[in-house]
Amino acid sequence: MLNLAPLRLLTTSRGRKMTSTPKDITIIGGGIIGCCTAYFLTRHPSYSPETHRITLLEASSSSAGGRTSESIQDPATLADPTTASKKNPAHDGIAGGASGKAGGLLALWAFPSEIVPLSFRLHAELAKEHGGDKRWGYRRCYASQIDCRARLPPGFDNSLAVGTEPVRGKPEQRSKGLHKDHKTDIKALQKLGAPEDLDWLDTDDALAAYEEMSTPDKTAQVHPELFTRSMAQLAEEQGVKIVTGARVTTINKTADGKSVESVTFIKDDKEEILPTTDCIVAAGPWTTRLLPDVPITAARAHSVVIKTPRPVSAYALFTSIMLPTGFPTPTPQDARRKSTTIRPLIGQQIVEPEIYARPDGTAYACGPTDNAIELPLTSADVEVDTARCDDIIYQVSGISDELGKDGQVLAKQACYLPQGGPWIGKVDDTEGLVVAAGHTCWGIQNAPATGKLVSEIVFDGKAKSAKLGSCDPARMGALWR
Ligand SMILES: Cc1cc2nc3c(=O)[nH]c(=O)nc-3n(C[C@H](O)[C@H](O)[C@H](O)COP(=O)(O)OP(=O)(O)OC[C@H]3O[C@@H](n4cnc5c(N)ncnc54)[C@H](O)[C@@H]3O)c2cc1C
Repeated sequence: MLNLAPLRLLTTSRGRKMTSTPKDITIIGGGIIGCCTAYFLTRHPSYSPETHRITLLEASSSSAGGRTSESIQDPATLADPTTASKKNPAHDGIAGGASGKAGGLLALWAFPSEIVPLSFRLHAELAKEHGGDKRWGYRRCYASQIDCRARLPPGFDNSLAVGTEPVRGKPEQRSKGLHKDHKTDIKALQKLGAPEDLDWLDTDDALAAYEEMSTPDKTAQVHPELFTRSMAQLAEEQGVKIVTGARVTTINKTADGKSVESVTFIKDDKEEILPTTDCIVAAGPWTTRLLPDVPITAARAHSVVIKTPRPVSAYALFTSIMLPTGFPTPTPQDARRKSTTIRPLIGQQIVEPEIYARPDGTAYACGPTDNAIELPLTSADVEVDTARCDDIIYQVSGISDELGKDGQVLAKQACYLPQGGPWIGKVDDTEGLVVAAGHTCWGIQNAPATGKLVSEIVFDGKAKSAKLGSCDPARMGALWR
């Protein structure tokens, strides 16, 4: 069937006159990928709010899922405690998943190489244009690798607690850090002695080896929740309609199966249908529930936010921490039952939490992934296992008083890491169907490039600013036929 949609003369967002076909663009997912996509669609030279309707549908209507009730719920008040909450209540649910609970590290040495340089540059440009240093904590930082031995927490000793069942640690069995692919083998770490400004690490007792991985010209950070919320707000100001609590159940095609026609979603227990010419699926780890052939898996990961007694210097630390005999045993990866009993370790175990100092006077630390609980229906239903958060707290406290006895835990949280991609591009042969998901442990870093490339796919028919290469779902063409 011919597309008879009328061409209109319009004024673009940049003030140019041009003709354009009306589009009903629907973005599924209010994480960092969906929100950056919304932002860059409104910055594309062909975008006109008169002709292009853009709607972002986010399943959750609350960002409180995956965070304990005692946790701080609005990180904006940390960056600027004198102001009241800057949260837009109509956007509650935005950044409720990994995009609100990630570390926020940006690096030129991330992967995949096709999109990393573009995205790193776009992060810098966005921060400059919108005051990202204040608004979402953008700053340059160092990344380092450290090899440490943890001190025992108060009340624990290596003669083992009486009356508890001890656990035999397996030194060879590490609990891996999220960004492990970038780490040098710990045996190969060269330099001893940390730089002077890394004064929040217990370098006297704890540190065995230190190596600088990267410098501020190649490494930066953002507060991911504040960044994602800002992208949503900036997109909305240019005409995007944001609807939270709207879970998409189906992407509907035209009778001949060749094009997207609409999406069906549930909001307030009512089913609604939204006419759609272009559908961007940015549902992170939930993407396979709408597009089962796109290979994306999900793994839960826990993290904590700790207020430090003074702002700590700008380092992202990739740790390898040896836990001594008598240390609280880390929760096993597949343990399903929440355990409240702390069992002391016999033998030693190596753990690899990652620690990111933040400019708002806090430090963030995350632990390994686990597969104890499957991905729930929405981000609002994500369960936190506080024992896994306590593991991280014990471990970082064992190498830093600032993070331990002198710090204050502000948040205990969990989210699901999307793995398998990133996939960015047209899905099978369906006209108007685009996926932007599966961003692994570098989704914060790669979100701006993803948003920009998707805006080009939608308005220009193809990605222009970078080659999609390994991210192009066309690579999996055979799967979809
Ligand atoms: C512990 C941890 C630390 C990390 N640290 C870093 C880091 O330092 N640097 C970095 O670059 N990356 C990091 N990441 C990775 C990064 O967080 C993710 O890659 C990124 O957040 C994925 O964003 P997303 O928008 O694809 O998914 P999400 O943030 O999961 O967003 C998807 C959204 O889609 C919504 N949704 C799902 N299904 C539907 C539906 N049917 N209808 C409507 N909405 C739907 C969900 O509710 C959710 O809000 C980290 C991840 C974890 C887990």
